[in-house]
Amino acid sequence: MNKLICEMCGSNDLIKEDGCFVCQGCGTKYSVEEAKRMMVEGTVDVKGTVKVDNTAFVEKYLQNARRALDKEDWEEVEKYYNLVEQNSPNNMEAVFFSSFGKAMLSMTDSEYYKR
Ligand SMILES: [Zn+2]
Repeated sequence: MNKLICEMCGSNDLIKEDGCFVCQGCGTKYSVEEAKRMMVEGTVDVKGTVKVDNTAFVEKYLQNARRALDKEDWEEVEKYYNLVEQNSPNNMEAVFFSSFGKAMLSMTDSEYYKR
């Protein structure tokens, strides 16, 4: 049987009282239904504090984006800076160059620049 983990404080010291479970760590009460749900979810992610660290991805996308920028490959510029922007919305470089790349792409796409 899986252990019950308190969603509020992470304690696994829950005791059944008056038809519901009471956390001995913080006093939070859980109904039997909630307790069941927690047990099911607990098998997937016991601690519930897994933080997605996408720093490495962002760094990789940024490198690709800058390389594309050097080559003036606007399609790639837009693509990679968009990816950076999605993963790191406060990255001003990505915010700027994703739209810059898009603008350049639409310009170079037209016959105007294709000589
Ligand atoms: Zn608790």
